[in-house]
Amino acid sequence: MSGITIALSKGRIFEETLPLLAAAGIVPAEDPEKSRKLIIDTSRDDVRVVIVRASDVPTYVQYGAADLGIAGKDVLLEHGGVGLYQPLDLNIAKCRMCVAAPAGFDYAAAVRRGARLRIATKYIAVAREHFAAKGVHVDLIKLYGSMELAPLAGLAEAIVDLVSSGSTLKANNLVEVEQIMSISSRLVVNQAALKMKRELLQPVIAAIEGAIK
Ligand code: ATP
Ligand code: MG
Repeated sequence: MSGITIALSKGRIFEETLPLLAAAGIVPAEDPEKSRKLIIDTSRDDVRVVIVRASDVPTYVQYGAADLGIAGKDVLLEHGGVGLYQPLDLNIAKCRMCVAAPAGFDYAAAVRRGARLRIATKYIAVAREHFAAKGVHVDLIKLYGSMELAPLAGLAEAIVDLVSSGSTLKANNLVEVEQIMSISSRLVVNQAALKMKRELLQPVIAAIEGAIK
């Protein structure tokens, strides 16, 4: 494709992305929450948006099926970032990754006595690195959603998940026992496209940069 393709996911990232794209004169022709279309035209003839799962954004950009994408640091760390240039932290979709456990579970004591802990998470790569660095013995259990349920159902002692207000943890009687890192969303660019389509991409990247809060 001669124009630019941008990979975006629905949900919280999309909403916060709109003002940044608008700064580059890019306004999607339809709301992906309402439309079933997966390819959406924009106010610019040379720009289209593809709607993919949040965790698939880096893959589309890595293989050049999209030139640009917006993805959370959580998703990028799990993907590994191969083939991606990450020029901008967009300062949107901010939250933190943490270890959480049931309010009645003494996580610190379990760690001190060197217990082996079952940890349920969507973020296997980040969790593995975190616990290895702390010397905590863990069995990692991969889940695709609703991590909060795992300790309540007896699947795991603790979880690694994203938290913003903490209300979901609270509603499930879980407490944050360790913070792992701050998370926000980043612009990702296909490395080959950045060279081949430089005249098209550079002004878009610059306009987005200028609109970051
Ligand atoms: P899917 O629903 O397709 O499985 P997802 O659940 O990861 O994907 P979202 O919940 O929209 O999709 O999350 C997208 C991104 O938003 C995450 O990768 C993360 O960077 C960020 N995010 C997730 N939870 C929060 C939160 N509570 N507050 C702020 N940002 C968040
Ligand atoms: Mg979701």
